[in-house]
Amino acid sequence: MYSRAPVDRSADSDGSAGDDRPGLGCSHGEPPDWRVQLREGLRSAADLRRLPLAPEELEALAEVTAAYKTRAPRHYLRLVDWSDPEDPIRRQVIPAPEELVVAPGERPDPIGDRRHSPVPRLTHRYPDRVLLYPTYQCAVYCRFCFRKESLVEVDEGYSPRALRPAYDYVAAHPELREVILTGGDPMMLRDDHLAEIRRRLEAMPQLRMLRLHTRVPVALPQRVTPGLVAALRGRLMVAVVTHFNHPREITPEAAVACRRLREGGFMLLNQSVLLRGINDDAEVLRELFQELVYTLGAKPYYLHHCDLTRGLSHLRTPLERGQRLVDDLRGRISGLCQPTYVLDLPGGEGKVAVGVSAVEEHEGTRWILRGRDGRRHEYDEVLPDAADDR
Ligand code: SF4
Repeated sequence: MYSRAPVDRSADSDGSAGDDRPGLGCSHGEPPDWRVQLREGLRSAADLRRLPLAPEELEALAEVTAAYKTRAPRHYLRLVDWSDPEDPIRRQVIPAPEELVVAPGERPDPIGDRRHSPVPRLTHRYPDRVLLYPTYQCAVYCRFCFRKESLVEVDEGYSPRALRPAYDYVAAHPELREVILTGGDPMMLRDDHLAEIRRRLEAMPQLRMLRLHTRVPVALPQRVTPGLVAALRGRLMVAVVTHFNHPREITPEAAVACRRLREGGFMLLNQSVLLRGINDDAEVLRELFQELVYTLGAKPYYLHHCDLTRGLSHLRTPLERGQRLVDDLRGRISGLCQPTYVLDLPGGEGKVAVGVSAVEEHEGTRWILRGRDGRRHEYDEVLPDAADDR
């Protein structure tokens, strides 16, 4: 069973981890400045040589690091247990030769971002919301990322000119309500650039919400400064969707970052990806989902089945196993702590819930439902006669 030292919930500053694990960086505690965190982290594949990796392992990584980006802030590297080659943090951030093995059925654009992209830097898949890509750069390059090929192909940062067609597209669509900044990681932008994007969007009266999808609170929580929070505050409701995958990512520094976001008045949600050997374990998921709520105040929103991204078969779990894991949590943890298990249909047809349904049979108003006790229960609907019209 997985266990972890409890998070110090009293952390109220930028936090200091205190210890100094093997890896990169200076010899004192956790630097509070996020730029230092980046500078003292893994900035490129060349820096892998400064990590405690065996020479033969480094040699085996040459090809994969030429194909995909490699980066991790010092904070995230310090979470790795270097004595364990299967460490769940290490496997999310250190490249693996298996990433070059493409299995039949895997795709370069697994969820159809490009197919649903009417203008550069924007995807329009659902009627009332769009994805906007203000940058293709991230604080950490996650080995499981479903956009890892786009991040290599485009590799551009923020540019108001490059975003102009996307703004024009949003302005011309009165049915839109939400713009989702994703990436790349939008929290890697400068505060003034985030404020500029927020102002451009809030000038469009049909929009109600600005959403950010980010790994920054996980990998570089020091970036969540009062200035960043101020840059995002305005007319639009703001939701920050974090991306914690493992309970060991829930650090005192992450707790400070999430509290800042909540105190800024933002909704806090989390999406995780189910990853083989990293979090495909009932106890790991239980702890992750509970600590998200009880320590970070972040509602687990989606548990994603790993997409058909090329080179990820070594991280993919069978769908049936995912269903069993999620079903196991039903009734054991609060409904607040339970995400919806979803799969993005290949090609861009959108998300579908893939958890086990409690409905076993249904005829007319008579339903057979499976209860928490594992037994079948009958439920007869009692409706007004007019309900037949619905
Ligand atoms: S931060 Fe997000 S976009 Fe960037 S590599 Fe990780 S999962 Fe992909």
